[in-house]
Amino acid sequence: MKFAITSKGDTESNIWMHKMRSYLQDFGLVYDEAQPDIVISVGGDGTLLYAFHRYSSRLDRTAFVGVHTGHLGFYADWVPDEIEELVDAIAHKTYTTVDYPLLEVMIAYEHGGHETRYLALNESTVKCVDGTFVIDVEINGRHFERFRGDGLCLATPSGSTAYNKALGGAIVHPSLQSIQLTEMASINNKVFRTIGSPLILPGHHTCVLRPVRQKDFLVTVDHLTLLHKEVRSIQYRVAKEKIRFARFRPFPFWKRVHDSFISD
Ligand code: NAP
Repeated sequence: MKFAITSKGDTESNIWMHKMRSYLQDFGLVYDEAQPDIVISVGGDGTLLYAFHRYSSRLDRTAFVGVHTGHLGFYADWVPDEIEELVDAIAHKTYTTVDYPLLEVMIAYEHGGHETRYLALNESTVKCVDGTFVIDVEINGRHFERFRGDGLCLATPSGSTAYNKALGGAIVHPSLQSIQLTEMASINNKVFRTIGSPLILPGHHTCVLRPVRQKDFLVTVDHLTLLHKEVRSIQYRVAKEKIRFARFRPFPFWKRVHDSFISD
């Protein structure tokens, strides 16, 4: 089996990365950064987001596992004290995988040409560069509302505990093939109206944002922020790709939520 390790880059994460790499090579596994079967992320959720984007072109051939070194580590099942157990499991056990849904982002431009496609593990947000953000929200081809406010967030179920949660969104179990739309500070009065509640869309539904006045937007995809100019539309839906996590022991989603937000 071929493996790769991504580290947050701090001293502690790098030490554990080097230890794991040497243990796994001692067990006969091959270190291959280009085409790994399994990617071990050492650090926090940010490190796992980075690893996901680095290997997003080979998701069907790569499983991910996270080790957290002093961070929240919502996506990470293991702590450094358990590294020998994890290495032994990777080298000797057949692991099961769980698939989590991803968000597909398609950005089309006024001048036509190629659309830009992204996959998000957590979420994508849209804000404008200056002034109040105004955008038409379309669901399954029908106009739903004209949103005015700070921005909008579209999250995956596993990203529902991240930015989405801070925006008052629901926590959604990742077995539900869905995406969630939440508002950022909508303007709501007798003149302007938005739904005001988070919306959860199933896998076969599509949400399209269509600019009204402004055409330039700051679009985030997980930890990445990109300025897109002359935007005609931004389409969101559940992606056909999924992320696969390698599971060497059970770690139910609701226990993960409890341990991250209530107490561990
Ligand atoms: P960061 O600002 O360094 O980290 C944001 C925090 O979110 C970290 O504590 C991180 O955990 C945690 N996190 C990431 N994914 C999570 C998930 N699925 N469930 C629960 N917590 C999660 O930024 P970053 O490391 O580059 O991560 C980018 C993410 O930050 C974005 O995808 C967005 O979700 C989140 N964010 C949140 C807010 C907010 O809550 N107001 C605002 C902006 C962005 P670790 O400590 O383990 O890395």
